[in-house]
Amino acid sequence: NSFARFELARPLLEAIKLQGYDRPMPIQGRSIPKILEGRDVLASAETGSGKTAAYVLPLLQSLILQREEEGAQGARGHHIRALILVPTRELALQVSDVVAAMGCKMRPSVRCTSVYGGVEIEKQQAILQDGIEVLVATPARLLSLIEAKAVVFNKLRTLVLDEVDRLISQDFQDEVETVLRHLPNKRQNLFFTATFPDSIRDLVRKVLNNPEVIDV
Ligand code: AMP
Repeated sequence: NSFARFELARPLLEAIKLQGYDRPMPIQGRSIPKILEGRDVLASAETGSGKTAAYVLPLLQSLILQREEEGAQGARGHHIRALILVPTRELALQVSDVVAAMGCKMRPSVRCTSVYGGVEIEKQQAILQDGIEVLVATPARLLSLIEAKAVVFNKLRTLVLDEVDRLISQDFQDEVETVLRHLPNKRQNLFFTATFPDSIRDLVRKVLNNPEVIDV
């Protein structure tokens, strides 16, 4: 029972080793194969369960494959391939740290940033203009950036909603739904949540396509 059983590219296996992860945590063991298959996933997982790496690893695997398909052009990575929506700035920073850690052996290195409110939007716009592949965002700031035409999602393949219950409880539901309207329809959707209030069922029905339900 090791990470080697997943079909992950060598740079990812090297990064896992560097992090000192010996074996997948249960949420990782259950989610990673399904996400690699391209399935939509609805996973219930608490903070501390290893949920972040459970979606970051397959998301980076998909990015590596897209780069290979597109050759030199893809390697320059000027399009957002994956969007991770989170409820707080704190979580945004944590998640982008995990993306950086898991992507540290990729060449060229993964282009990831996080955007959230409470700081100047201009700096975030400048970073986005340089070309970002993985964007971690809180919903309200992302909407401002969409309105400012600072983000283009036409090559987006993966959407992650992390801590869906908190995303919705903080009155972000409208913002989240508005963001979704700006994304291409053909994409993979991954939801991670600690609890299942009714409001989530609604969003699940609207967004997820025949999801694999994972409860650990
Ligand atoms: P998370 O639930 O994503 O916030 O992760 C909780 C903690 O578990 C983080 O400190 C991770 O670095 C750590 N972690 C994630 N996956 C593994 C693993 N397979 N083995 C050991 N630690 C892990």
